[in-house]
Amino acid sequence: MTVFDRTRFAPSPTGFLHLGHVASALHARDHAGSAGDFLIRIEDIDRTRCLESFTRAAMEDLAWLGFESAGAVRVQSCHMAAYRGVLAGLRGRGLVYPCYCTRAEIAARASLRAPDGSVVYPGTCRGGGVCGEGRSPAWRLDMGRALAAVGELGWQEEGRGFVPGEAALFGDVVLGRRDSGVSYHLCVTHDDMVQGIGLVTRGMDLFTATSVHRVLQALMGWPEPRYAHHGLLLGEDGRKLSKRDGAEGVRVLRARGVGAGEVLGMARRALARV
Ligand code: GLU
Repeated sequence: MTVFDRTRFAPSPTGFLHLGHVASALHARDHAGSAGDFLIRIEDIDRTRCLESFTRAAMEDLAWLGFESAGAVRVQSCHMAAYRGVLAGLRGRGLVYPCYCTRAEIAARASLRAPDGSVVYPGTCRGGGVCGEGRSPAWRLDMGRALAAVGELGWQEEGRGFVPGEAALFGDVVLGRRDSGVSYHLCVTHDDMVQGIGLVTRGMDLFTATSVHRVLQALMGWPEPRYAHHGLLLGEDGRKLSKRDGAEGVRVLRARGVGAGEVLGMARRALARV
């Protein structure tokens, strides 16, 4: 049974849209309860990798393909104060702590990998007392405390049913990055709440991160969405499709004279294969 609800397509403008994005947008729109339930969000908090020119190009390509956001397009970089406010609230509750470790220090001490392949923080700065020598800190969720407060949670996955959570395996994830002061986990859960997203649709690369998102939602008292992750499209070399696969870039296809309907058809066929 297919679940329908308010959905969103949330690209990060770090490059031009490719067929994987088109498939993801189709997946989100296919699951939207009605024409008024499909939203677009630009996830551009990483100011070192995101460019406004890519945002403009994405919006133009999406319009060309016929994707229209039911409400105003939410651009994350315009809402930094809101995200920082959430982080300040967690700080006030003793659920996050400052971390001064460099990447190299973490790599030298870490011995575990999280389910998404990221390095599990070894906990050096937990409990305080670490001097940053003038460095500005990142802010980490104290996962032990968070789980003591809300417990390990799972989620309802379309076509699969209940998936048990394993947030503990991620350890103390970063909620406030040293550079921007915020993080993907924080902003995505906040915005799904603000935008009233009932069904989160996105690629399987973010499947395991859902455990962490569920913990944040519970800590903040935000509603629990359902999830529908889709398989990742593969490039011709059999690896995950990326912006480097220029041949599949929407712009490249457009320039070659391929029509919007044909691009949508290619994305739909690729989606059906995964
Ligand atoms: N912005 C993320 C991406 O482009 C998607 C995040 C999400 O859907 O939760 O991969």
